[in-house]
Amino acid sequence: MMSHVFTTRRGGLSDFPFDSLNLALHVGDDALTVAKNRALVQTPPAIFMNQVHGDTVVVIDGATTLEITADAIITQERNIALSVMVADCIPLLLWDEKEGTVGAVHVGRRGLVHAIAAKTVLLMKELGAGNLRGVMGPSICGSCYEVGEDIFEEVVATYPEAASRSHSGKFALDLPKALEVELINHGVAIERTNICTCEDANYFSYRRNAITGRQAGFIWLT
Ligand SMILES: [Zn+2]
Repeated sequence: MMSHVFTTRRGGLSDFPFDSLNLALHVGDDALTVAKNRALVQTPPAIFMNQVHGDTVVVIDGATTLEITADAIITQERNIALSVMVADCIPLLLWDEKEGTVGAVHVGRRGLVHAIAAKTVLLMKELGAGNLRGVMGPSICGSCYEVGEDIFEEVVATYPEAASRSHSGKFALDLPKALEVELINHGVAIERTNICTCEDANYFSYRRNAITGRQAGFIWLT
């Protein structure tokens, strides 16, 4: 069986500006409070990545408490929760219909350009995963993610579906749309959570508050 959950910023113990369910150790919050917050999320023992906007995919084949430097993790082990932390980037969770392989992927602008999601899908298939399904959790929307023209041109050259305009008519990127198209092209049946982290106060948003916490997506097999 596969289970997954996306957290919000509600229900934790951290004080401002990490209020309250901050799950990240690297943002300046108190480490003991973060550990307590992580324990509040009802999952099996969880793997947290040290995410670097790269293209490294790591296969987890045993329980570990170590942080792994990667932007995607995959497992076929049961009772290990894979986690991806975000505050505007897309938390992408993947599983196969046989529910024998799961993956958690961190997809920001650079991750999209690095094709981190496609690399994860291909590796899951190499490991024997069948038809893949996925869900994209809350992230910044195409009307809020304003960027400069140079970045806009760079991304849109490869991902034309990312082209968007902000609320004020400036260059913007619709990363969820571009990722959705890429996943469909790789045969993944994908669902989207149409919540914008920048507009919904229930979520941490780096674009709205530079110093803030991180929510997370978790996926695991039982
Ligand atoms: Zn938005």
